[in-house]
Amino acid sequence: VLRTEGVVKAFGDRVVLDGVDVTVSQHEVVVLIGASGSGKSTLLRTINLLEPIDDGRIWLAGEDVSDPRVDVDAVRGRIGVVFQQFNLFPHLSVLDNVTLAARHVHRTPKAEAEETGRRLLERVGLADFAKAYPDRLSGGQQQRVAIVRAIATNPELLLLDEITSALDPQLVGEVLDLVAELKEQGSTILMTTHEMHFAEHAADRVVFLKDGRIAEEGPPAQVLRDPQHEDTRAFLARFR
Ligand code: ATP
Ligand code: MG
Repeated sequence: VLRTEGVVKAFGDRVVLDGVDVTVSQHEVVVLIGASGSGKSTLLRTINLLEPIDDGRIWLAGEDVSDPRVDVDAVRGRIGVVFQQFNLFPHLSVLDNVTLAARHVHRTPKAEAEETGRRLLERVGLADFAKAYPDRLSGGQQQRVAIVRAIATNPELLLLDEITSALDPQLVGEVLDLVAELKEQGSTILMTTHEMHFAEHAADRVVFLKDGRIAEEGPPAQVLRDPQHEDTRAFLARFR
């Protein structure tokens, strides 16, 4: 579904991504780990075409989306994104948040978008909040709505950037449970998280980024339990 090839990104003379090759196959969950500043968010932002790259290529389902002639909105319409915080539009109801992209980007008729939205909210146990505004919801509920919004248009790929980092610890579980459920249902996900326990159980592959390069990658049992690279060991030691 996704392949980045030698992606390079610099801000001024600071190289943040230094030739990153990442592949995410269909139905795969790939977890990006790495120290603060290692380039995780920047990589996700380049994939969603929020940051132009300086070198390399990004392939989405066989299409070179790093080609400058690409239709940026069309590409973004194929990718669902959830960030750490400030995800929902505060002036829109939960249901309107969830249906916004379907209605305005994908031109889905209102009734159809709302039916899908209500069904998805039902599935995550938030149907009663359809007409509520986001500030009535807990942080965990808001992030679940943000996830519902991201999947409402049936994206080919989900990008999740530290979606539990801003949550109170007791709310983290309900959000990660939903991600695990999406995995069970076959979603294709590239995500960053500091929740190593989750990564160990839910990831198909873990990619460790160090200073904008992939230092190590493999199945979670290998990278997290038996890291080969000294930098990976040093990074993981902080979580023990
Ligand atoms: P964290 O775990 O803290 O979220 P990260 O791995 O996501 O870190 P990035 O946000 O990708 O790291 O940032 C990588 C580097 O790029 C950092 O040094 C950051 O300061 C720099 N950077 C990111 N965005 C910009 C920008 N728009 N302009 C200048 N520098 C930037
Ligand atoms: Mg980040």
